[in-house]
Amino acid sequence: MEAAKAAAQVPSSVKEVLRVLSEAGHHAVVVGGAVRDLVLDLKPGDFDVATSALPEEVMALFPHTVPTGIKHGTVTVVMDEGGKHHPVEVTTFRVEGEYKDGRRPHQVSFVRELREDLSRRDFTVNALALVLWPTPRLEDPFGGLGDLRAGRLRTVGDPMHRFGEDGLRAVRAARFAAQLELTAVAGLEDAMRQTIPIVRKVAPERYLQELKKLFEKARAPSVGLKMLQRTGLLEVVAPGAPGDEASLTRPDRARDPTVRWAAWLWDAGRHGAHATLKALKASNQHQVDVAALCSLPRPATLPHATDAQLRQLLRTVGRARLEWLRELWSLEGGAPLAQRMSDVVARGYVENASELAVDGNQVSAWSDARGKALGELLATLVRRVDENPELNQPEALRALVTELKPS
Ligand code: ATP
Ligand code: MG
Repeated sequence: MEAAKAAAQVPSSVKEVLRVLSEAGHHAVVVGGAVRDLVLDLKPGDFDVATSALPEEVMALFPHTVPTGIKHGTVTVVMDEGGKHHPVEVTTFRVEGEYKDGRRPHQVSFVRELREDLSRRDFTVNALALVLWPTPRLEDPFGGLGDLRAGRLRTVGDPMHRFGEDGLRAVRAARFAAQLELTAVAGLEDAMRQTIPIVRKVAPERYLQELKKLFEKARAPSVGLKMLQRTGLLEVVAPGAPGDEASLTRPDRARDPTVRWAAWLWDAGRHGAHATLKALKASNQHQVDVAALCSLPRPATLPHATDAQLRQLLRTVGRARLEWLRELWSLEGGAPLAQRMSDVVARGYVENASELAVDGNQVSAWSDARGKALGELLATLVRRVDENPELNQPEALRALVTELKPS
């Protein structure tokens, strides 16, 4: 019943891949997060296919394939449907070779049995497979369905052993506890705590990926952040980042992932937030966005802000981040101040000379100013318009230029 319902949600391109592989005599199933999400009635991100077929066998069966991760057994099958390309990742059943240093295994071995492939997966709820042919059926050798129903997060096998193999898994435990709203079984947090030396060896980019998913997918990211904090992992993943109750729970009240990051790192200020994200190897854009938001003062510290002060604040944060600014301030009772900020902007706000109602050439023609003198004049105009937004129209600016013109 559950299986039939899940099978009905599988996209046709994925079904077609499974059909071709099955008809060629291979086992082929949907695995991992997609199966889990379907059982939970959530919309899966992407559908991963696992198969007993070797990568070269997969490539021989489909006209359009890309060897995306051939060493690890992954081939992307591109299905053409209604003039559109639908990529489907197909990975050969595998087990992982020896783990060195708690990082990714150096080699993988392909196996013919689904159960072996499921046994290498991190948590029981992620070790589910959906078989479509001949009739839909869920493969659940480790009790993941029962754990999902009971709200339990449990590793496949002994947590000390599994976290010791790959230090990222302890961080993933916190992410999945929050994302899937599961409670760690007894012993799991202890194992996380004891895995710290292994977690330290993991590349920061991999921490970042888990934290991103935590902020994107969890209803309450604090569940994961606090679990990292309790087990001592927060200091490893984000050394120096705020770990107090208020900072860890503030993101729960925000919706936008960028605002959630800023809500967590707010107390670290611009420089602290920037340092944390840089250490995590976040993209430059993400570093700049979150750091800019973290430069904002708390709304409670601005009871008598003037319009000009508000415009000055927005200029340091950047107008493009106004919506984020509003959401962040609203988390701390600053909704009225955020509204004032929007009103002030609506009445006229210039971030730089390019937003003046006339362009530089025009100002130059009116004033005969060139080069540095023109730059200074434009900066003055921006400042004057900031003090009085009504000046931002051609007539008024012309009068102003005449007034300012060096005689
Ligand atoms: P989401 O949809 O939220 O990304 P997911 O379960 O698909 O969740 P991924 O990180 O995309 O998570 O991993 C896909 C699958 O691969 C997991 O469901 C799990 O079975 C397996 N997996 C991923 N990373 C690991 C790991 N470090 N150790 C063991 N198994 C892993
Ligand atoms: Mg996934």
